[in-house]
Amino acid sequence: MARYTGAVCRLCRREGQKLFLKGDRCYTDKCSIERRGYAPGMHGNARNKKLSEYGLQLREKQKAKRYYGVLESQFHDYYEMANKKAGVTGTNLLSILETRLDNVVYRLGFAMSRAEARQLVLHGHFTVNGKKVNIPSYLVKTGDVIELKEGSHSKDKFKGSLEANASRVVPKWLEMDKNNVAKVIAEPAREDIDLPIEEHLIVELYSK
Ligand code: SF4
Repeated sequence: MARYTGAVCRLCRREGQKLFLKGDRCYTDKCSIERRGYAPGMHGNARNKKLSEYGLQLREKQKAKRYYGVLESQFHDYYEMANKKAGVTGTNLLSILETRLDNVVYRLGFAMSRAEARQLVLHGHFTVNGKKVNIPSYLVKTGDVIELKEGSHSKDKFKGSLEANASRVVPKWLEMDKNNVAKVIAEPAREDIDLPIEEHLIVELYSK
């Protein structure tokens, strides 16, 4: 399963904004973008660099991929799925990305970042409808029940993460009870996705 293994802070600097890829560190003054808020590379500090229409569309796609930790071919597959669904393609695309199991684990507060959530899923800590699922790209659907696998409950790590993320608002399309059992109660709507992504630019890029 391919994934990006380079320095993640470079990705934020490339996009010119925080993508919150490193968990705790992103909220401290150790965040690279706080210290070096310009793009990486020899010409990264050049100012007034105006992007072409294509450049803007490309950057928006890259940003979305990076938020969700998805590589190009899989991202393109999601676009194709979104395009075939009824409704607005851009909204469908974000909705599909939101329903990835690693994103759900992150949204529920079990992990500090989507990258950490991906690891937790890979290590088999979660079940969907009672069955272990260790595929981060697994897409949950309405009615699915997600919970920690038996034996993972007592791990301090999860308690610590849930406490640290207690202020994170669980989106309206998910519901979690006091035993940390979650249920998907709807498809994610655009207003439930709090990411600064202009998805119409991604659709324009792929529609060319
Ligand atoms: Fe991005 Fe987090 Fe690195 Fe800051 S610390 S640049 S938000 S990954």
